[in-house]
Amino acid sequence: MRRLGVHTSIAGGLHLSLKRAEGLGCNTVQIFSHNPRGWDRRPLKEDEVRRFRELAAALDIRPVFIHSSYLVNLASPDRGVRRRSIELLTHELRTAGLLGADYLVLHPGRAVGQDIGTAIRKASEALTVSYDKAGGGTGLLLENTAGQRGDISSTIPLIAEIIAGTPPGCIRGVCLDTCHAYAAGYDIGDIKVLEGLEREIKEYLNPLRVELIHLNDSRRPLASGVDRHEHIGEGGIGLAGFRRFLSFPLFRETPLILETPKESDRDDIRNLDRVRKILARLDTLPQRTRKY
Ligand SMILES: [Zn+2]
Ligand SMILES: [Zn+2]
Repeated sequence: MRRLGVHTSIAGGLHLSLKRAEGLGCNTVQIFSHNPRGWDRRPLKEDEVRRFRELAAALDIRPVFIHSSYLVNLASPDRGVRRRSIELLTHELRTAGLLGADYLVLHPGRAVGQDIGTAIRKASEALTVSYDKAGGGTGLLLENTAGQRGDISSTIPLIAEIIAGTPPGCIRGVCLDTCHAYAAGYDIGDIKVLEGLEREIKEYLNPLRVELIHLNDSRRPLASGVDRHEHIGEGGIGLAGFRRFLSFPLFRETPLILETPKESDRDDIRNLDRVRKILARLDTLPQRTRKY
């Protein structure tokens, strides 16, 4: 069964995010474990953990993905920011482990004026420290970024370079965000580009894989380097692009999480509906499983 979900709110309690996912007919979910724009490291209460775990199991919502804080910059040239980033990531890894989440999704960092090699080395070192401090636990996924100035993770080879500086087991795979990929210059609605991307993934990431797809259209044009999510089918990728992307064999079984703009639940319902229509058509095509 294809796993499809949206990023849902934890307002009112962590377990309510699962109720919201269920209400939208989803069977996977992504959440923030705390305010993503704050450094707060509130410890979880025991009953909070129990309720979340029990409900996720009862509703069969899996995998559970937690998105890391936007403040975390493991490559920061500012020592204070980097130290707090490591502490927050360590806390988030422990939290994700307690909640029984399958993966923690992270933007590896930004160079902020440093050369990219230095920034990548710092990110790898910081990932290693957090992983050691947290004692393993939940798997980390590195997400591709939109190629804004200073981004150190906008291509598969760059992500592979970050992973190469970490111990085995530290990074469990990659999260591919379609909006970010498009903004960074991957025209992911084009079959030739998808074939090139598949070659990159196999050459640079093997044995790791894309374990999660963030399915978002892009408000800005191809290779804009600007991260602006758009409703499915209403941006540069377009409905035809998503049809080609979702039918590409490499990604046919990868869980999908929508991070499309949301003013009300109706937006989620509409975007999910568009994706479900595309997926329903795919189900009539012969299945091919991943070969690597
Ligand atoms: Zn992200
Ligand atoms: Zn994303």
